[in-house]
Amino acid sequence: MVGGRWSVVAVKDEFEEVEASYKDEVEPEAERRPDAEGLGVVEEKALAQRLRNLFFTYSERERPPNTVYVTDLTQCFRRSWFELRYRARPRPTPQMVLGRMLHDALELVLSRDPSFGAAKFEVECSHDLGNGWVLKGRADLVVDDAVYEFKFTRAPDFNRAKVVYAAQVSAYCFMLGKVVGYLVLVDRERLDVRVLRLEPDEDLWRNVVDRAKLLIDSLEGDVPAVDSPLWSWECEHCDFWVLCKRMEGGGR
Ligand code: SF4
Repeated sequence: MVGGRWSVVAVKDEFEEVEASYKDEVEPEAERRPDAEGLGVVEEKALAQRLRNLFFTYSERERPPNTVYVTDLTQCFRRSWFELRYRARPRPTPQMVLGRMLHDALELVLSRDPSFGAAKFEVECSHDLGNGWVLKGRADLVVDDAVYEFKFTRAPDFNRAKVVYAAQVSAYCFMLGKVVGYLVLVDRERLDVRVLRLEPDEDLWRNVVDRAKLLIDSLEGDVPAVDSPLWSWECEHCDFWVLCKRMEGGGR
């Protein structure tokens, strides 16, 4: 650290080193290049690796410039800073990949019920932050005046999910001009479902906008946000932990 600020170049070098060693760990050199002679075991391993890579890249999406997503603000703020600052796309967890697949199957599943006949899926919404940046979101489902947000999680996490995702539902309601939001929590092992009806909360929406501006300020100032994480458990699943914990206010 120099003069109370972090050396971004040093952090970037370290990040690339960690990323390279991670890649070698999950994709050993031998398996990235299938044997030219086509030996059976090597072929099977190469095929398995290709399929695994397809799963893990399934949920990748390009991020447009000068854009902050609502989901950047409901996860650890500092993690979002790393992702935006270094254009990093950490490998998703298997749970994230499966969650994305289940979201993509929603239209197939729900369109069998006539009450979802007029439903729109994956509805994009945005809000101009007035500083050259745009806040964007993608509501899972919109039916008439209602926004539905589905979260595939574990039943023991339902209460925690409600706290985290209520802000996301409010943000989508305000951006789309809808009057009610439903947070649909689905236990991904038993398919138990809990539905929470939420009135759009203006304070939560303002908080999302304020957090977006704070994140942009910390990006433009090139100083990681220090008021994170909201939940200490976020650090346990974070790819940036090795770097973050060395910085002021960093991972636990
Ligand atoms: S290690 Fe923790 S505080 Fe740091 S970026 Fe990750 S989740 Fe956030």
